[in-house]
Amino acid sequence: MAKVEFETPKMREYPVIPIIHADAMAHSQPFVASSQHQESLGFPGQLVDNWKEVAIDKMGELLTKYRSLKVYLDSCVKCGACTDKCHYFQGTTDPKNMPVARQDLFRKVYRRHFTFAGKYFPRLVGAEDLTEQVLGDWYKYFHQCSQCRRCSVFCPYGIDTAEISMAAREIMDTIGKGQKYCNEIIGKVHKIGNNLGLPEPALADTLQGLEEDIKDDTGFDVRLPLDVKGADVLLVTPSADFFAEPHIDGLIGYAKVFHQAGISWTLSSYASEAANFGMFIGSYDQMKKIAERVRTAALELGVKRIIVGECGHAWRVAYSFWNTLAGPFDFLDPRYPSPQHIIEFTSDLIDSGGITLDKEANDNRIVTFHDSCNVARASRMGNLPGGQFELPRKVIKAACNHFVDMPADTIREKTYCCGGGGGLLTDDLLELRVKGALPRMEALKHVVDNNGVNNVAAICAICKSQYSKVLPYYGFPRDMIVSVHQLVSNAIVLGDKQ
Ligand code: SF4
Ligand code: SF4
Repeated sequence: MAKVEFETPKMREYPVIPIIHADAMAHSQPFVASSQHQESLGFPGQLVDNWKEVAIDKMGELLTKYRSLKVYLDSCVKCGACTDKCHYFQGTTDPKNMPVARQDLFRKVYRRHFTFAGKYFPRLVGAEDLTEQVLGDWYKYFHQCSQCRRCSVFCPYGIDTAEISMAAREIMDTIGKGQKYCNEIIGKVHKIGNNLGLPEPALADTLQGLEEDIKDDTGFDVRLPLDVKGADVLLVTPSADFFAEPHIDGLIGYAKVFHQAGISWTLSSYASEAANFGMFIGSYDQMKKIAERVRTAALELGVKRIIVGECGHAWRVAYSFWNTLAGPFDFLDPRYPSPQHIIEFTSDLIDSGGITLDKEANDNRIVTFHDSCNVARASRMGNLPGGQFELPRKVIKAACNHFVDMPADTIREKTYCCGGGGGLLTDDLLELRVKGALPRMEALKHVVDNNGVNNVAAICAICKSQYSKVLPYYGFPRDMIVSVHQLVSNAIVLGDKQ
């Protein structure tokens, strides 16, 4: 791949609304999926001849199916409250990355074909036909939205640009213009069971190697079991946990927690992936197929509980959609949340004394926490409103003596996306990822400069990969990013309970 030339944005001391630069990112677009990747998901292999008609028909179908989509398209009053809220606009200064402008790429076609005024007086209402140029803009700018929903927090009407972005991607798949990164990965999950395409023997080998590493490190026989029938818990985790730093340290942390709590658990080679990229391409059919693998694995293994590892969008899909798409999960033990997040599980064990953490083990760290967008704005944890913000912080504080939050307007429900979410974590979009990370990097710099922070913890595989890539662009060390369960792993006291 050709090296992408671009300048990393300068971090601003006081973030202000940037001066716009028209078409600043008009050159940015991801690789188009090959016909093989398209067809394996049931989409046309390439742009169909009558793509305009097919696209408008699909738009009509989605407008009927998702009432919210029509409401979002009809209700924008152009108040401007969302314009500077998107990290991609802040980092790229391209006006088409303002959330309202991104929506308008879709809205103008909707108006032309589905409203009276747009059909008869298109110029008056900003209605436009779906031309090749408009389709080009769709492909570029709906792949410059990580579907993070930050803009919707600031919109007085709650308009969710993410949903519009998903609809646009679904239409593009339907006419044969899908994105390579997402569609290739979804194909691997259907065929092999995980995003990495890691077959069962390689997975078993990896887990065995990790068991040996833990034994060398701690002296304890901590297991990472695979396909164990009759285990109490099925852990479904992003496949990055089997492979990359710092994800793998999180996986070791989960294993130590299960070991010390004395709870039997297993991974599944059939459902060895928590991530569900069906959401990124806006396809409930694909989401359903991927989610059904988890249900099938849970039934075959006879588990009583399903716990989801550290993955932001996977938790959103599990929390919000599993039951509808792949349920019922009525065969699980009703005494436990279904599904349950690994953070909830560890938090409960901290409360009950099921595990003991020695905070001093992390005394070399001053930690901050990155709220992952899908966890923050599309899910919950525990029984209290805002549990998705409180529980990860509680677990971190139980494992570390030194914790500092980033500035209030960049965390919790106002958190900034890492810049790599929503199916954009691909090197063909590196410039976008680096520029889109600007607001998060500025907030991080604030606590580095003022509080000496030297680690940022996350509970999302995409965030961890994105940080590892972009931190050096902003002058931070790559290994500054850690898994929350990596902190738990360092602090957990193994052996006889006191
Ligand atoms: S959903 Fe996120 S990435 Fe998309 S326009 Fe809104 S703020 Fe930007
Ligand atoms: S904040 Fe909402 S209503 Fe206002 S311009 Fe943005 S999308 Fe439209």
